[in-house]
Amino acid sequence: MTRLILLDQAMRLHDNPLLWCGADAKATEQRLVAVVCLDQAAFFGQQYGMARASLLRLQQHLQLIAETKQALARFNIGLVTLFGEPATEINKLATTLQATEIVAATPTGYRQQQTLASLQRRYQVTTVDLNSLLGSAPLIPDLSSLPDSFSAFRKQREPLLQVTPAISEYQPQPGQHWLPPAESDKFCENFSQLAAFSQPSNQPGSSELHALQRLDDYIWQQQAISHYKNSRNALSGDYYASKFSAALATGCLSVRYCWQQILCYEQQILANDSTYWLKFELLWREFFRWQFRKYQNAWFSKNAIKGELDFSPARLTMHQQQQLNSWCAATTGVPFIDANMRLLNSTGLMSNRGRQNVASFLIHDLGVDWRLGAAYFEQRLLDYDVASNWGNWAYIAGSGNSGERQFNVIKQALNYDGNGDFVRAMLPELTTQGSLVHQPAAGVKIPAHWQNWLAKLTTETS
Ligand code: FAD
Repeated sequence: MTRLILLDQAMRLHDNPLLWCGADAKATEQRLVAVVCLDQAAFFGQQYGMARASLLRLQQHLQLIAETKQALARFNIGLVTLFGEPATEINKLATTLQATEIVAATPTGYRQQQTLASLQRRYQVTTVDLNSLLGSAPLIPDLSSLPDSFSAFRKQREPLLQVTPAISEYQPQPGQHWLPPAESDKFCENFSQLAAFSQPSNQPGSSELHALQRLDDYIWQQQAISHYKNSRNALSGDYYASKFSAALATGCLSVRYCWQQILCYEQQILANDSTYWLKFELLWREFFRWQFRKYQNAWFSKNAIKGELDFSPARLTMHQQQQLNSWCAATTGVPFIDANMRLLNSTGLMSNRGRQNVASFLIHDLGVDWRLGAAYFEQRLLDYDVASNWGNWAYIAGSGNSGERQFNVIKQALNYDGNGDFVRAMLPELTTQGSLVHQPAAGVKIPAHWQNWLAKLTTETS
């Protein structure tokens, strides 16, 4: 009897029930096989004519798999690494190993849900929701009555602020029979073609170790959590925000562990508006996860969760196509937009403030279908998470959990980059002093709502 333990979205030793779940009486007669499958379509496919993942994101993921393999090998646990269409590859492996059971993390995205649903037709599939704050009974929200507004969701959950506690770090269990590394390697032939893409990556999402070090540094060493609420709207820097997102998105950091660490900090050091606000943002993440489970693939429709489902491809005029291209290439001529996009293109990350502005600009100022922006973010973001990305884009477009959100880019530039330092750092070719560096280039069409704010630009520094 063989049980496959799918570690996609669960490549970590801390707070990982999937590694413990073979420790029941029944498992003592069972062989356990740890598996991950790199989804070929998600990393090498296209959507709306755009690649679905950048090389940087692929490298981050390959590094995470390699680090996980090493960590498991210390316990003499092998990791079978597959590459291809997940249901097909897992099915092939299960047939070869005569597996009858599969255990996996409860998915959020529609595609992962479809994969497990298809495996369920042949195998006994058990899922454990290890990346949600409200993942275990009795906390699991009822999807049919799940509020569609974040405020209502927060008000419903916050009075108790109950969160599923993290479990202890994995230790080898007597009676567990894992397939060892030498045996596992025999099934990794397809995956070995990806070696050509591997490059060491130091991103927090690329290993459990980096992620836990970042958490310790941000919360305990720097105590930067104490000023989170005041600094979180900055555009760049090391400690303005947590930078937990990539590790949470890949699953090498447990959100429940984060939550526990914040509570410990509040009990031992300080509880203030900032410590509360970090939990508040984690609740946003949580909200989108449950929203995705509720509406599933409707999130990819033109009107997302509002109105008729329409999966027809986004249509663009030639002019809009040029606008989209210049937005992606960070050459719109609007310095605040281009600076943020250049940061994204070079690092795979962007602040939340930057994301809101570039999204609003693409949708509301350039009139481009929001799904194209979401698809480009999917390609570039190292913290790409299906629910947080598509949910936030739909939110700004007004097709998700709110009405339209339009930002005045020049006003925002003045508020959050008043001296123009961020823009000059990202676009060194611009040398104008003070906030006047935010002046759009000649030829940029100026929306009426920018005029008052353009009049305030000055070469003086404050
Ligand atoms: P912090 O400010 O330190 O927040 C802590 C954590 O809370 C984050 O790591 C994240 O897990 C969660 N969080 C914070 N803000 C949000 C939010 N608005 N929605 C959901 N979760 C949130 N976040 C992603 O993780 N992946 C994405 O693909 C993604 N795409 C986005 C697209 C757009 C258009 C916008 C406006 C926002 C997007 N976000 C996404 C949300 C947010 O911008 C990032 O989570 C945040 O900037 C990551 O930096 P941080 O870890 O320092 O966040």
